[in-house]
Amino acid sequence: MSDTIFSKIVRKEITADIVFENDFVLAFKDINPKAPVHILIIPKVEIATVTDLNGKDHAEILGQLFDAANSIAKIMKIEADGFRLVINCGKNGGQEVNHLHMHLLGGRKMTWPPG
Ligand code: AMP
Repeated sequence: MSDTIFSKIVRKEITADIVFENDFVLAFKDINPKAPVHILIIPKVEIATVTDLNGKDHAEILGQLFDAANSIAKIMKIEADGFRLVINCGKNGGQEVNHLHMHLLGGRKMTWPPG
C-alpha cells in the first residue's frame, strides 16, 4: 500500500482545511478547487482505488462516504441546489492520488459531459 499525501493528512502530519471528520472518513477542501465548493471525502483506511473495493468487505465505508457527502452538502449549504460526486479511477479516469477519494463539487451548475 502506497503512503500518499492523503494518508499524511489523515495522520495530521500535514495540514488540510478539514470540513468534516468522524471515525471512518475525513473531508477537506481541495487545494485546487474546480468549483465554488470542492471537497475531497476520503476513507481513513488506506484503499487505493475503486478497483480495490468490493461490496462484502467495504459496504460500511462506502455507506460512510455517501453519508458524509450528504452531511457536507448540508454544512456547505449546497444540498438544495444539488451537487456532483466524482470518483476518478486509474490513469484514464484521471486519478492522481492513489488513496480513494470522492470529489464533492457544487456551488455552480455543472456541465456535461465531463472532460
Ligand atoms: P484525483 O485527480 O481524482 O486523484 O484528485 C486529486 C485531488 O487532490 C486534486 O483535485 C488535487 O487538487 C487535490 N489535492 C492534492 N493535494 C492536496 C492537498 N494537499 N490538499 C488538498 N487537496 C489536494
